Amino acid sequence: MALIVQKYGGTSVGNPERIKNVARRVARAHAEGHKLVVVVSAMSGETNRLVALAKEVQANPDPRELDVVISTGEQVTIGLLSMALQAEGIKARSYTGPQVRILTDSSFTKARILKIDEDRMRKDLDEGCVVVVAGFQGVDDAGNITTLGRGGSDTTGVALAAALRADECQIYTDVDGVYTTDPRIVPEARKLDRITFEEMLEMASLGSKVLQIRSVEFAGKYKVKLRVLSSFQDGGEGTLITFEEDTKMEQPIISGIAFNRDEAKLTIQGVPDRPGIAYQILGPVAEANIDVDMIIQNVGQDGSTDFSFTVPRGEMDRAMSILEGVKTHTGAREVHGDRTMAKVSVVGVGMRSHVGVASRMFRTLAEEGINIQMISTSEIKISVAIDEKYLELAVRVLHKAFELDQTAA
Ligand code: ASP
Ligand code: MG
Repeated sequence: MALIVQKYGGTSVGNPERIKNVARRVARAHAEGHKLVVVVSAMSGETNRLVALAKEVQANPDPRELDVVISTGEQVTIGLLSMALQAEGIKARSYTGPQVRILTDSSFTKARILKIDEDRMRKDLDEGCVVVVAGFQGVDDAGNITTLGRGGSDTTGVALAAALRADECQIYTDVDGVYTTDPRIVPEARKLDRITFEEMLEMASLGSKVLQIRSVEFAGKYKVKLRVLSSFQDGGEGTLITFEEDTKMEQPIISGIAFNRDEAKLTIQGVPDRPGIAYQILGPVAEANIDVDMIIQNVGQDGSTDFSFTVPRGEMDRAMSILEGVKTHTGAREVHGDRTMAKVSVVGVGMRSHVGVASRMFRTLAEEGINIQMISTSEIKISVAIDEKYLELAVRVLHKAFELDQTAA
């Protein structure tokens, strides 16, 4: 008998029939004798609908009130799933994030979980009850409703698994696991049986939308056994996120190709080349809570230099106006932005022990005439920023060049 946290995403609870399906799946695990905590997202499309609704009323919705609105989607699904479980003859009880008491900080729309009360859940579990918890939401110290950022139900699932020291956290979604890349772009993409935690962290942060990055960070920190599975298919093993590299098997050098369309590049030209300049530029950007990703500073000439960095596309306008301010008080020459950037990354722990990955990547892109505008690397990934219009081509040729379409030996 195990304690299992299952999380079901929006498409898995997209209509009443699917909710009943989820209930049957939960019922099966319950019948096997497992203790179950089930986390659900809002029905698919619902959170988008609520965000749009808010924007119709207030162009730039007040973050506190936006959280009040967008957290409601999950409240609907927990109630419906509990009803469906009861219809299966199972005792079930639903809780919102604040009811469990998932305590978060007060950064509305992207709050971080600080602490989870497990007493109520434990008590229900001991009574043989299935506990159904709303994903994506929590409450701050002052009692305000908060949300955890888009895709945040994954993080709720993993955080609950950590708090309860669950045996496994199963993330049920509309794909049957983590793929070498997005199969919508590369039909030959293959499902991975396992991926290391570090690779998954890179894949998630680099744009693979299977798991919210925070959930992977959480899993790493608390060593939660995490598995991604399909809610539409029976019997698959999904993809297991492991903490050890499999030493028995010959590792592929590259495990996957991640990409992200939502990038924008900002450049400030002719800034004085002196100590502290990077801080003067990026300090205010960080203070505005804008995520900076790739950064390039050119070699200085005649005492001045150019500085470029990428931010999420949605933050470009804010970042631009901050740079305009920086320009004024540093005496920089010019500021400009490019909204049509994309990032493509090859990821794999095998890179640690193999040379030539970067050159193979650059050669492959060169052969297609794709210009690389920025490069960044870590121990296990190489990312390039390119013009968005070449994104799909780049992903396809790289997938092939690294032989990801071929089944592992
Ligand atoms: N419903 C939220 C969203 O659409 C949270 C989630 O699905 O994980 O982002
Ligand atoms: Mg999701």
